[in-house]
Formats: sequence, structure tokens, C-alpha cells
Amino acid sequence: MRTVRSKELEIDDVGGVEGASGYLTIDLAAIGRNFEKLAREAAPGAVGAVVKADAYGLGADRVAAKVYSLGCRHFFVAQFVEAIKLRPALPDDAKIFVLNGLQPGNEDICANENIVPVVNSFQQWRNWAATAGRLGRRLRAAVQFDTGMSRLGLPPVERSLLAADLAEGSDIEVLFLMSHLASADDENNAQNWDQLEQIHAIAMEFPGYDLSFANSGGLFLGQPYRLGLARPGIALYGGAPTNKPTPMEAVVRLDVAVVQTRSVPANTKVGYGGVHVTESETRLATIAAGYADGLPRSLSDRGAVYYAGLRLPIVGRVSMDSITIDITALPEGTIGLGSLVEVIGPNHTLEEVAREAGTISYEILTGLGHRYHRQYR
Ligand SMILES: *Cc1c(COP(=O)(O)O)cnc(C)c1O
Repeated sequence: MRTVRSKELEIDDVGGVEGASGYLTIDLAAIGRNFEKLAREAAPGAVGAVVKADAYGLGADRVAAKVYSLGCRHFFVAQFVEAIKLRPALPDDAKIFVLNGLQPGNEDICANENIVPVVNSFQQWRNWAATAGRLGRRLRAAVQFDTGMSRLGLPPVERSLLAADLAEGSDIEVLFLMSHLASADDENNAQNWDQLEQIHAIAMEFPGYDLSFANSGGLFLGQPYRLGLARPGIALYGGAPTNKPTPMEAVVRLDVAVVQTRSVPANTKVGYGGVHVTESETRLATIAAGYADGLPRSLSDRGAVYYAGLRLPIVGRVSMDSITIDITALPEGTIGLGSLVEVIGPNHTLEEVAREAGTISYEILTGLGHRYHRQYR
């Protein structure tokens, strides 16, 4: 039963459709509706799209084009190489920002390819200003400040250096000042207040500039956090922006093919290490995805898949290319070679898979491998 394939689906790849080991279905329309919901949430502020790590594994070109069509003009990637790849997919008026900053050696191509660095230190500021001087043109940047995460951005001691440079007049056009929340998924975490206080202090020190502060979680912390331009990622892709039930629409569905079924008696070992031993006669199915496809080994003997709404537990260790599931709950003969089981979908959300694996939805999404047949809806 090929539940994921239907006429409404746009099949992207040529070949490999029949008999793929798994089908990863990405609902671009749902991403669009999530973007519009976040835009309503952020108003009157603007909303950009964080499309780093290939749009959390879902295809940066496709996602960026979709939200551009809905009015998005600010796109954030993490690495310079991602910006270079994304640039041809977007019209010139789309701004692409590199969150990890400006690395020595990238300056000229950054300037020439219309890519905007996020300047994360005074050293990067000086390098970018020197590039502007050498090329004889004004260059754009966003400037990030560290407000308590100790990861990226100008530390407090460098603020006065930047202020002095700006007061002298600079060749750099600062599009906005930004910072990043470390604990936005938890509305009760006092670190949110501390960081909000810091960004207000920065806004006082550098008056007149636009601000960018909220990620997905930040948008749901309330009005004070929605300063200027929001930068949601995970919420666009259907992940939960906070530790409460998500208001976002699911985007991803993953169905994986059964490659073998068998019945085994009680006391039979299953999988590597023989760590799982059947307690009674059991029917098993082996499905064609494993940790190399982004289903973490931590799901061994804990996760599950679904078929026709029934939960089928993972038994034994997750292998590189396969997982064995207990199908005893299903009437005999219900599934066999080629059947598809739901790994992520309406019965088994991304958040549940992440919880079972002991991780977060971000890691599951970005890890989904390249052996699935990808289809965009
Ligand atoms: C990844 C990232 C985001 C997006 O975060 P989400 O929690 O996915 O919304 C926003 N800003 C910066 C600086 C980031 O690194």
C-alpha cells in the first residue's frame, strides 16, 4: 500500500520512485501557512526565514522560493557556502545573511555575490570595512551582539570600539543589530529577561538601528520579544517552538518500506548484540531505514512506527540500514514486503520521535538522510 503517493503530489526526482526504501514527503504549502501564521504573530515586525542546514534538511531552495512568494525577503543561513548555493535560487531583492559571520578569505566573494555577513566581532567589522575601502563601495552588514549565550556576536567589551567607528562614519551600512536567545523554548527561564534587558541596553547605545531578536521560541514569548525582524526556523518546519504543544502545522511525513517479515518463537534474539529476546511467539518486520538515514541508534528498543493507526514498537538495536519492528498487534498478513509504515506522520509526530530518541526535533529533521525518495507537495 503506497499511501504517500497520489496524484496531488508533485514527484520531483526522475526514477527511483517505485521501490524506494522510504518516502520523505515535504508539504511546502504547510510551510507557507506556517510562515503566514508567524508573520501574523510578529506584526507589525517583519519575519525572515532561517534556512540554514538546507532548511533543516528540507531543501533550502524550495523552502526559500516558497516563502519569498509570500513576501519573505530576509533569509538566514549559517555557513558561507550555503549562501553561495542559495543565491541563484532567489531574486536580487532577497537578502541572504550568513549567521556564522565573515571568515577571512570570503570578503570579496561576499561583496560580489550580494551576500550579507553577520558581523560577530570587532575584528570581522574591521575586515569588512577594509574590504569596503579596498573595493571603493559601501557594503552591507548585520551586527550581532552576545547578550548572554557566549556563542557568537560582539562581546560587551567591544561595543565601545564599534560605537567609536560608527561615530566617525563608516563604509558599512548596518541593516540591523541582532542577538540570539539561548532559552526561548522555556518561557519561565529567567535568562530570557536578562537577554531582553541586554538588547534594550544595546538599542540605547546604538540608537536608530533596526533590531532582530526572536527565533521561533522568541516569537511566542510575547510582545516585548518581537523586536523588529524575527528569525524563525523550526516553527516554519512544523517543530514545536516552545515546550508546550505546538501551534504549527506538521510539514514532514516519513514512510519507510518493509523489506522482510517473519514469525519467531519465544526466546529468539533480535538484532545486533542479541539485546532483545522475544518473550513469546512474535511476528517481526524489518524496515529499510536505520541510523544512516537519520533514525538515531538511541531509538533501539524504545521508539515505534505506526501502521493504520496502530503502534508497532522498535525491537532490538537500530542498524545502519534497517530497523526491526514488532508487528504482532496487526492481523496476520496485513503488511508484507513493500508495505509502507509511518515513521513520522499524523500518528507519530516529529516531536514524539525526537522525545523517544532523547533529542530535539531540530536534530531529527536535519539528520534525515538522502536515501529516501523526496517528494514535495
Ligand atoms: C538557528 C537560528 C535561528 C532559528 O532558530 P529556531 O529556534 O529554529 O527558530 C535564529 N537565529 C539564529 C542566530 C540561529 O542560529
